[in-house]
Amino acid sequence: MKIGYLTFGRDDFGYGMALCLSRLKEHEIYRVTPKTARYVDALLFSCFWWEHIYLLADFIRRSGLKKGDHPRIIVGGFNTFNPVPFFPYADAVVCGDGEEILQSVIAGESPGYTWNNVDPLMAFCHETNKIARIELARGCKYRCRFCAVAHLKPYRETPVDEIEQALKSTRLKRVSLFAPEPTMHSADKEITELCHRLGKVRVDSDVRLDRLSKRDDSVPRVGIEGLSERLRKSVNKPYSNGRIISAVKEAIAQGRKGLFMYMILDLPGEQDEDWQEFRELLSKIGKLSGCTGFLLKPSPSVFMPSPHTPMELDEIHWERDYGEKWKSFFGRGEDRKWEVMMAERSRVFSPAMRILSMLSTRAGEEFAEIETELTRSKIIGISGGRVKCNSLSGLLRILKRYGGVDKWTGRRDETSAPWKVVTFGNQGAPAGNSAAALGGGISKTSKSIVAGAKG
Ligand code: SF4
Repeated sequence: MKIGYLTFGRDDFGYGMALCLSRLKEHEIYRVTPKTARYVDALLFSCFWWEHIYLLADFIRRSGLKKGDHPRIIVGGFNTFNPVPFFPYADAVVCGDGEEILQSVIAGESPGYTWNNVDPLMAFCHETNKIARIELARGCKYRCRFCAVAHLKPYRETPVDEIEQALKSTRLKRVSLFAPEPTMHSADKEITELCHRLGKVRVDSDVRLDRLSKRDDSVPRVGIEGLSERLRKSVNKPYSNGRIISAVKEAIAQGRKGLFMYMILDLPGEQDEDWQEFRELLSKIGKLSGCTGFLLKPSPSVFMPSPHTPMELDEIHWERDYGEKWKSFFGRGEDRKWEVMMAERSRVFSPAMRILSMLSTRAGEEFAEIETELTRSKIIGISGGRVKCNSLSGLLRILKRYGGVDKWTGRRDETSAPWKVVTFGNQGAPAGNSAAALGGGISKTSKSIVAGAKG
């Protein structure tokens, strides 16, 4: 069989697809373009990020392919946690782990929507950009309320002997041993020692603030998330300001060069006082002895309530221009008065992009019709591999015809959440090695898939 594939987005999003393809060795595998896509028997697309459904729609349009025709179209990747917007494009949607069920999905045995959890994980090494990437774990034992990783996937680890084999299989020196929280692996220390013994250098640097001592990166990346103690508590990452200050103090004492801080703006209930508290926190850090030469890198993102998390029904304030707010908070030229070296990241999604993100993650099957209309009227387009919005007013005008922008960005209730076709039992994430599929596709009104028991 001829299998075509395409992963949208950055190279390091390609791990999942590479892992799946490694299990399909008996087939001929081709990376496809819109021109070549029709010459294979099955097409696999990986949509990792919310923007990728727009790229998928564009690809399908340009290739002239249609669901139900030849070749069979299969979509997987992290962003299929709401599989419903994908239904008009795909013959089958794989959510969760694809590597063990893809054969049967390709063979047409699992039409519609399929969920699966692989347990235990098998190590796999994927080399991109001179870095060998090896997955340590899936899911997360913590329960940050906004985090889809924790609520969508149960926690599982790759056994150490598997990791050792994967490390030995690559000649590359730089290795990214990745997981949502890499230090959580029960053999974390042993794995780092193994890397040293094999002459490998770990380049993964994400870590929780309260596990910083387990990493020796020069500029570790930590998720602070909320601007204030109150907001951090509200998302179940209750770091106090004192805790953050002592972590920086310790980092300076250890000779680290800086700290990369992920922040989420527009968390529910955010007020001006939260920004003020964040300013005071940064000022206090600037007064720590020895902080000259220490670099703070606050990196903003805007809140996007993810399906299947406790915050899935929350509203966003798309109309707030957080890009401008963030820039004016840090100031320019003379207005810039930080005692610590500050290299804040400045890219934040615009109001229009936030609307597009909510449309792609919260929509039902109407997504395809809206996307077609937006594209035809040139309100959105693809440029440089990204979706772009050319007119916010045009976007709002079209959405008004479908019920108004609030339908996707406002506070939702259980009955207006298409992704509820997927249910996970009481534990927030499915457990065990389970696969469930509905024959013939599922409609908006069809029954839920209960994918796994309590874990
Ligand atoms: S934000 Fe990080 S620590 Fe929190 S649940 Fe997600 S992966 Fe785990």
